[in-house]
Amino acid sequence: MIEIKVPMIPGKKNHLVGKIEVSVGDHVKKGQILCHIETAKGNREIKASQDGTVEKILVEEGDEVAISDSLILLKEIGGETEQISKNFEQKPIANNENIEKKEIKKDLLVIGAGPGGYVGAIYAAKRGLDVCLVEKDDLGGTCLNVGCIPTKSLVESAHRMDMLKEMDIFGIETNTEPTLNMAKVIERKDQIVENLISGIDHLIKKNKIDLIKGNAEFLDDKRVKVKNTIIEAKNIIIATGSVENGLKVEGYDLDGVINSSQALDLKDFTESLVVIGGGVIGLEFAFIHKAFGSKVHIVEYQDSLLPMFDKDCGREMEEICKEKEILVNTSSKVTSIKETVDKKYIVNFENDGKTYATIADKVLMATGRKANTQNLGLSNTSIKVDEKTGNIVVDEYRKTSVDNIFAIGDVSSRLKLAHLASHEAILAVAYILGEKRNLYDIQIPSVVYTNPEIASIGYSEEDLKNNNISYKKSIFDFAANGKAMTMNQNRGFIKILADDKGDILGSIIIGPDASSLIASLSIAIKNKIKVEDLAHTVFAHPTTSEVIHEAALGILDRGIHS
Ligand code: FAD
Repeated sequence: MIEIKVPMIPGKKNHLVGKIEVSVGDHVKKGQILCHIETAKGNREIKASQDGTVEKILVEEGDEVAISDSLILLKEIGGETEQISKNFEQKPIANNENIEKKEIKKDLLVIGAGPGGYVGAIYAAKRGLDVCLVEKDDLGGTCLNVGCIPTKSLVESAHRMDMLKEMDIFGIETNTEPTLNMAKVIERKDQIVENLISGIDHLIKKNKIDLIKGNAEFLDDKRVKVKNTIIEAKNIIIATGSVENGLKVEGYDLDGVINSSQALDLKDFTESLVVIGGGVIGLEFAFIHKAFGSKVHIVEYQDSLLPMFDKDCGREMEEICKEKEILVNTSSKVTSIKETVDKKYIVNFENDGKTYATIADKVLMATGRKANTQNLGLSNTSIKVDEKTGNIVVDEYRKTSVDNIFAIGDVSSRLKLAHLASHEAILAVAYILGEKRNLYDIQIPSVVYTNPEIASIGYSEEDLKNNNISYKKSIFDFAANGKAMTMNQNRGFIKILADDKGDILGSIIIGPDASSLIASLSIAIKNKIKVEDLAHTVFAHPTTSEVIHEAALGILDRGIHS
């Protein structure tokens, strides 16, 4: 039996069942529209995932439904039972006697199909393992559905808007004010996400991975249950990702207080936005909204923006925010959020013993994410969880406290990044295959898609000072880079930190192309390429990459343009 359920649709509110296009007994083709779901962002078509016969319709038009609720049961043509499950207590198909219990055995079970899980499953299949992948929502996880990709689609729209505003600097007179069509911005983002999801679906099929849709729950250290299917695997990888970790202050659950997933689906222009949290996600949204024309105010608890990065970067970002007229308050503790009669939101915060208030149409809660171990049945296992962070505890090969069970990505990592999740997946699969590979935190780049971009790798100056590691630093400004000047983006700098042997300890770049430039530093750090080797490398002219060359020369006190 195939259970068709409500897909992952960002938003706090429930959705309504729209027109139901089929009746019990109908034969349907894969891709045929079964029914519609009315969401805050419009109508969503629910299509048949396989050819089949409509066995049961579990909802009526107008019913309120939430993500993962069951809608329709399809009997698969050919008879094999596929489980597409959800928690649907009101209509408990788990107890349906007609659904047979099924037990399967695999080399590897992967739980979660985000950039950690699906990459691990494909890599393992390519290396010859018989793999089963379980996913309770849409393929691609947070990254693809409500994270990296959708935000970057909005970032690109925002960049285009910023570019239009400075056209006259380049000698181009457009004579009209650019206008924003938010619905189109969102539609484009949704289309990109949909295309990428079908790409992953194709790869999973191509690599003959058994995809089971439903919530995976451990029964014990060896067995996992997904609805009526019990899976036993020689090895298990947990890749269940993370969930929002919003600040639970008074008023956090008001209608106008939104999380990042909801912020990705705002179809109407937001006149004013308060962003609680000046970290990566908060800053990206602040810059997107500013470019679209909103009034933006960031309230950050720590004493600088991007507190996890080099302090110089936080300071530069604050300057840039000031220039862009994004209001920033650091060292500020949000105490409550109140709604006004005309549906505006007052954010109260304390700074240096004084109380302040700021008002906006919407408040974005961007205070971080935490490991997702909900409904995973970890209490039925001996897997250890770090009480302080909530992360599953793993060793250097991402093995948990139980032999043959691994945890990768956001559910176990301190750094919550998509490329890290994917890399850890490969590391865990390699270990299962008898290959021990290492990955250290200082080899992991991290990017913030503001304008200008920020990219960082390795230690910050503060890390080195705190750990009493001696270092030499070199800073080179984009102001002296010809290409940056032609782009009208000569704001920012590169900083390289190295030890006295010339090994690179860390780098931060804030400026044009930072997201691409950091790759050279990643290669250098991973492969122990010394500063001197970088200095002897030829970088094309005119490119923004020349700042790397100049900064490397600077460490050797041979900088040409500084
Ligand atoms: P996830 O992507 O969260 O995937 C976990 C999957 O497991 C989900 O699909 C979930 O449905 C499934 N699952 C959970 N529990 C179960 C269960 N019991 N049974 C079955 N399935 C289950 N990172 C970057 O590197 N670059 C960026 O630009 C970037 N931008 C971001 C922007 C935003 C707004 C957000 C929120 C995050 C961003 N991230 C970014 C972080 C990135 O999305 C995560 O680090 C990444 O998705 C983690 O991958 P993962 O595979 O560990 O988990």
